[in-house]
Amino acid sequence: MTDVIVVGGGPAGLSAALFTQKNGLETTVFDTDGTWMHKAHLFNYPGVGSQDGSAFIDTLRKQVDSFGVERKQGEEVTAVAESGDGFSVTTEEAEHEASYVVLATGANRDLAEGLGCELTDEGVVDADVTMETSVADAYATGAMVRAEEWQAVISAGDGAAAALNILSKEKGEHYHDFDVPADAESTFGGMVDEA
Ligand SMILES: Cc1cc2nc3c(=O)[nH]c(=O)nc-3n(C[C@H](O)[C@H](O)[C@H](O)COP(=O)(O)OP(=O)(O)OC[C@H]3O[C@@H](n4cnc5c(N)ncnc54)[C@H](O)[C@@H]3O)c2cc1C
Repeated sequence: MTDVIVVGGGPAGLSAALFTQKNGLETTVFDTDGTWMHKAHLFNYPGVGSQDGSAFIDTLRKQVDSFGVERKQGEEVTAVAESGDGFSVTTEEAEHEASYVVLATGANRDLAEGLGCELTDEGVVDADVTMETSVADAYATGAMVRAEEWQAVISAGDGAAAALNILSKEKGEHYHDFDVPADAESTFGGMVDEA
């Protein structure tokens, strides 16, 4: 049993995992490495300048790893279902339990539909501004909640919004993840000058 399971390791999923694990929730990411970022070159991700999409993902993976996210690279999730107070997440290899699930599988909506998440009239997963779906404690992020207008920074923002909502529920009050320069060395360690 873990706190949060994230399905998908693109910008949306890794952003969600970064925020939840950094703020004390045990988080596991399952990813099959089909992220569109491997096809992209970023000129429009604020603060990044010009960067190859795969290089961006490499840095993001190192970033989540540095906070202790359990990243199950290459393990496909085949089903997500409600189970007790949380969710059971089935992979090719095992079954896992979590209190919260963040779906971040890009444009693929199969797991969300299997879980029973409502769709909009446009056929995308219906999520509110916190990215929570019609199934409580299940979140949908990135391309699956939009017919088009797909951008990496939007997916990353969705993941962060989902994570902050989970953290707010857990902590019982509105939560934000603010750091100040004095936190840099202790929090980000050796990666501080890499970006
Ligand atoms: C050619 C091209 C160029 C692009 N250029 C830009 C650009 O310049 N700027 C920009 O902002 N955006 C660009 N994009 C769009 C950008 O890549 C996407 O918006 C972004 O990657 C979406 O992020 P995501 O996290 O929602 O989904 P994805 O990046 O698609 O990540 C989803 C991840 O989930 C995994 N997954 C799916 N199903 C499962 C499962 N069942 N179990 C486990 N893992 C699973 C996939 O393997 C994948 O790794 C481009 C896209 C393409 C195709």
